[in-house]
Amino acid sequence: MTWTEAQIVQAHEHCFENAQEVQASAQCACYFCAANELPGAYFEPGAITEWLNPAGRDAKTGAEILRSGSKPLSDRATAICPNCTFDMVIGDASGLPITDRSLLSAINERF
Ligand SMILES: [Zn+2]
Repeated sequence: MTWTEAQIVQAHEHCFENAQEVQASAQCACYFCAANELPGAYFEPGAITEWLNPAGRDAKTGAEILRSGSKPLSDRATAICPNCTFDMVIGDASGLPITDRSLLSAINERF
């Protein structure tokens, strides 16, 4: 299947600030891992061990927290792939056909 530029760009947007969507998903895909046929391209949201937290701050010190552990600090956190550690994770709650590797490859080629 071929994908339009608009479809690819729209799908790519689901990789960012996606904590809410990823956590609502039954399964997630990393498009870098899928496109490169790495093992573990598909995983459950519970497998994510790190999140990027653009607005997260430590409650005690007020210091900015860029990365947290398995719990995102906000709905706008960005999931990090537990395998390749890139922020290229899409959850199935996005409504995107994440099991279609042609889409994941198209995104990987475009970005
Ligand atoms: Zn990955």
